[in-house]
Amino acid sequence: MTDRKRILTGIRPTGALHLGHYAGALENWLRLQKEYECYFLIADYQVSDYADDIDTVREAVFEVALDWLGVGLDPEGSHFVIESMVPEHCELALLLSWYLPLGMLQRNPTLKSELQGVSDEGNNVAFFFYPVMQAANILMPMAHLVPVGEDQLPHIEMTRELARRFNRRFGETFPEPEGMVGRFPRLVGLDGQAKMSKSLDNAIWLKDDPETVKRKVMSMYTDPTRLRATDPGHVEGNPVFMYHDAFNPDVAEVDDLKERYRAGRVGDVEVKQKLAAALNAFLDPIRERRAAFAAKPERVKEALAEGSRQGKARAEQTMALVRERMRLEYLK
Ligand code: ATP
Ligand code: MG
Repeated sequence: MTDRKRILTGIRPTGALHLGHYAGALENWLRLQKEYECYFLIADYQVSDYADDIDTVREAVFEVALDWLGVGLDPEGSHFVIESMVPEHCELALLLSWYLPLGMLQRNPTLKSELQGVSDEGNNVAFFFYPVMQAANILMPMAHLVPVGEDQLPHIEMTRELARRFNRRFGETFPEPEGMVGRFPRLVGLDGQAKMSKSLDNAIWLKDDPETVKRKVMSMYTDPTRLRATDPGHVEGNPVFMYHDAFNPDVAEVDDLKERYRAGRVGDVEVKQKLAAALNAFLDPIRERRAAFAAKPERVKEALAEGSRQGKARAEQTMALVRERMRLEYLK
């Protein structure tokens, strides 16, 4: 154990990762992984919407780990933890839920929007409970910082409230964790409508090959008011330019394209070709590292096993303290 401040953050194993994960979260993880002691969690207790599709979850555990390794997260310096290999998460979530008024969960805007349109019969109790699991994930290693996409902020707010309540009642135990969103807290999907998401078929995956990236970019939604290349176009709110801003490091090229687009002096094709080239240059080293690890599945398994062992050791310490503070050690 080190005395660096700690990060806990995670991803559900429901599929491979995309550019939205990178711009919204992973980029911060990469930047902070040396400065903080990091727990990167594969949140496989929080996939109750995939309860009938465990094959997908099993596969996604490795897909997520490969994407992490591909972007350059370092399992030597950080801990890659599989949530269910640390069952203490369940215990802490349950104990925390004693101090969480039902109304606070019902008012959580992210949960509310995720539950919208699904009947009470069509939903399971575990889905309703996942923000509490997330609070337990964050508090377990006593994390100080939680770098995530914007949709997760209400869960972090609830976690802070739970930490305060616990500390007030039982004495200073948990640090109050801070949320941190990335440069692009909510990267829009290829459709220009919803956020890029694993489940909406509007993503460029980090593992997409160069041809696929090109094809997806060429079919992207742009400025619907622009019919000809000579019409003045809108840059703001245009997903093609958002991706340029997020992933094209050649600022002069992007500025030039924007200027000509606004003036009606460049066609969508050129803007998109340059975007595809920039994205492929960004993704090349990620794909290369990912493929190298995919060829050595034993190394990936070892990283997950070792990280989970370390997560478990930390959790045992936390739970011993929590039980002591709550006076749940009846036989001592
Ligand atoms: P699912 O549809 O299965 O919920 P997801 O794409 O929302 O998948 P999560 O595992 O729920 O992925 O989220 C992982 C992290 O990535 C979270 O911090 C989330 O906020 C962030 N994230 C996901 N999509 C985006 C996006 N389009 N832009 C910015 N951040 C994102
Ligand atoms: Mg999600």
